[in-house]
Amino acid sequence: MQRVELADGRSCPYRIQESDRARRIRLKLSATEGMVVIVPAGTVPHRDDLERLIRTKSRWITRHLHRFAQQERVAQTWDLALPGHIHLSAINERWEVRYADPDANQAPMSTRVRVMTQGVLRVCGPESGRAEDCAHALRAWARAKAGAVLPAWLDELAQDLRMSFSRVSIRDQRTRWGSCSRHGRINLNCKLLFLPRPWTRYVLIHELCHTKIMNHGPDFWALVAMHEPQARRIRTEMRSAWMKIPAWMTTA
Ligand SMILES: [Zn+2]
Repeated sequence: MQRVELADGRSCPYRIQESDRARRIRLKLSATEGMVVIVPAGTVPHRDDLERLIRTKSRWITRHLHRFAQQERVAQTWDLALPGHIHLSAINERWEVRYADPDANQAPMSTRVRVMTQGVLRVCGPESGRAEDCAHALRAWARAKAGAVLPAWLDELAQDLRMSFSRVSIRDQRTRWGSCSRHGRINLNCKLLFLPRPWTRYVLIHELCHTKIMNHGPDFWALVAMHEPQARRIRTEMRSAWMKIPAWMTTA
């Protein structure tokens, strides 16, 4: 491990890593590895070149080092808050979540989630180190996922049960799983993706039944029971449903 002096007088350790893809020398900072100097494969950086590069980037470096120092203090909550895996029980999908390190040359303007391949997500951004930005981006991904899956599911159920609705929207409500207006507009909570499949199916059926009967009277429950005989049991089980939602989906 070599060291280099920063503009603020601190001495910062770094290591050199060769890369086949790198065309020129660049810096990478991460909370786990510290400073890494990436150089084109087969080249050895001249110490003067390296120091010049570090001088031009010194503000960026000190800003990140400061952030990493702060992160160490919140490391525990950080681990709890961000998932390594996401399980969308309702549609039986598992996703691995990878986190990219902040990178001076490649960082996009905002934190984003990319689908690498089916089952693998990558969270990257200028502040991959900030848990709340990552959670926010993952939440937007989950909501888009719900938008891609739940309306089609509702459509299919409506055809099976011979019911109809005028419109469906995906929301991120705090306290409701779904709702239905007197005009047949159905809202569904994107967090339904995290519930066991029968529970989510029950919520969709419940809202579809509201297109026929708005209130929660005996006729309504009879209609629900006709389409979902386990409705009563599922409703009881669903009292603990909020516990199925991961922390990163519920924090602001
Ligand atoms: Zn209802």
